[in-house]
Amino acid sequence: MSSPLKYTDPMGHRICEGNDNNCKGWRDTPSTIWLARQILKRAGIALGGIMSGWTDQRVTALAWVVSAIGGKFAKSIDPTAADAFRRIYGGTAINWGDEGADPKVCGGLKSGGCTSGPNQINFWSLTGQWDNDEFDMTPNFVHEFGHAYDHSLNMGPRNGMPASFVYERDSYLRSNDGGVTWQQNNRCNGDGCSMQGEAFADTFIASVYDAWNTASANAFVVMVVKAWIGNWVP
Ligand SMILES: [Zn+2]
Repeated sequence: MSSPLKYTDPMGHRICEGNDNNCKGWRDTPSTIWLARQILKRAGIALGGIMSGWTDQRVTALAWVVSAIGGKFAKSIDPTAADAFRRIYGGTAINWGDEGADPKVCGGLKSGGCTSGPNQINFWSLTGQWDNDEFDMTPNFVHEFGHAYDHSLNMGPRNGMPASFVYERDSYLRSNDGGVTWQQNNRCNGDGCSMQGEAFADTFIASVYDAWNTASANAFVVMVVKAWIGNWVP
């Protein structure tokens, strides 16, 4: 396990990573939207589908997520967090609506997000979009990037996840207080969805933001899960 560099300045201009108050004041100005689009381009992300779906808030939240994930995976060979992101993901198509989605995986979906391969993500709606809150949008993006990462490793993470992690996800993941945040999909019961896959994608959120269950009684299980995911995520 390498100790990753944390980039706070991924493009030579400061942009925050989302999910903290550092981001206040960096939202929705023409220069931050421009910067967000530069970060996505550099990270190899092509936005497509229904382009009116890509509001400034969603583009901004996505750039924060690239900075957070890229910073997590970054090594000294990566000039910026966006470069680290591109090295890991290799280029990602993210489409609003059906375009490019594999119907075998995402068929019939009209809300939420769906990842049908290592380089293909689709969204029909996004957590946080109802109040246009970028902070609430970020975990939804991270969750889908967790799935894409799982796909890129031929589902090694989900298949290697101990059953106890799947059934005891509440003991190490944070609860959703009010909205849908830390646990994007805790409704999967194995009927047409993968409980391991969903548990991994939500554990990926906890790992990227280092945001785990904070109850002291759960400290041991959190430590065990962190050690396990350390095999997959630096
Ligand atoms: Zn999912």
